[in-house]
Amino acid sequence: MTQYNFSAGPAMLPNDVLRQAQEEMLDWHGTGMSVMEMSHRGKDYQSIAKQAEADLREIMAIPDHYKVLFLQGGASSQFAMVPMNLFCTRKILHADYINTGIWSAKAIQEATKYGEVNIAASSESSQFTTIPAYDTWQLRKNSAYVHYTPNETIGGVEFQSIPETGDVPLVADMSSTILSRPIDVSKFGLIYAGAQKNIGPAGLTLVIIREDLIGDAMIDTPTMFNYAIHAKTNSMYNTPATYAWYLSGLVFQWIKEKGGLTAMSTLNETKATKLYQAIDQSDFYSSPVDKNYRSWMNIPFHLADKNLDPHFLERAEQAGLFNLKGYRSVGGMRASIYNAMPESGVDALITFMQDFEKTQA
Ligand SMILES: *Cc1c(COP(=O)(O)O)cnc(C)c1O
Repeated sequence: MTQYNFSAGPAMLPNDVLRQAQEEMLDWHGTGMSVMEMSHRGKDYQSIAKQAEADLREIMAIPDHYKVLFLQGGASSQFAMVPMNLFCTRKILHADYINTGIWSAKAIQEATKYGEVNIAASSESSQFTTIPAYDTWQLRKNSAYVHYTPNETIGGVEFQSIPETGDVPLVADMSSTILSRPIDVSKFGLIYAGAQKNIGPAGLTLVIIREDLIGDAMIDTPTMFNYAIHAKTNSMYNTPATYAWYLSGLVFQWIKEKGGLTAMSTLNETKATKLYQAIDQSDFYSSPVDKNYRSWMNIPFHLADKNLDPHFLERAEQAGLFNLKGYRSVGGMRASIYNAMPESGVDALITFMQDFEKTQA
């Protein structure tokens, strides 16, 4: 029986990538060493690191005036790094935040330690099941930046277009949507993402930052929290997450071989559309999310009777479908279907859901 892992993160990785890593595990390209055992300053590892960056730049079409940083500390560290760096570089001590769920709220909470945060829009009154209409946003013309979360991993709401912020740099926490479709990087001042959803293993955090936003961090910023230091040292100020960086590089190659982000986008749209259709066609299942902002990556759904939840999860595991339990605050189920989830996994889930519904009739 094929097993499928619907975890929100760390999430499944492409089988081809894991197999290649397995083949190279003990001896990378005849060096007699595992990538894990290499000096990050040696020429072998340098070639791995450079190739990964080149491939990422190619698949995302990242313009030359952006730096790509391979950091640690997770997206959660970026909640602090963004304000610590951008407030000073921009010499403006306030920023606009869009509150669309649990992750935006965490970013907001952290930023308030470093400057004034204006919550320009919030979907809290809808329990974060939608995105606030753009014409209601109270953006300020002279903010240091505008921060938003294109895909809320827990709530399952996703922006379907990039907000317009004029000259104010747009900052995005793309942890759970990066690489799922083509995006115009030039519309952003800064993009960050923890790797463990749609990039690679946990331990690596990607930052894509426009060069003019790298400059003065706050005077007491720890060295490791200063973008300028990481940019100057090609993310090798200290020992980076070498193995996670290497494995992410294999994922970038896999995406290239599959046809790049256009192909990912087609696949992801197909998978999500199928699953939402199955949910909508049934009276037994329901989606809590506004149809206009449903995520392609994280799909929460409820059973008509929540007393059946434990039974559903148990039966799902027997059918080879794992990690479907929803987040505590949302309840019900959540299927995370990032790039690595094949269409066959979504088909298996839909078949299981239909069978389960029949046994309840
Ligand atoms: C998972 C996630 C985070 C937290 O990431 P860490 O790498 O665990 O710090 C932040 N934002 C979003 C949107 C996420 O999905």
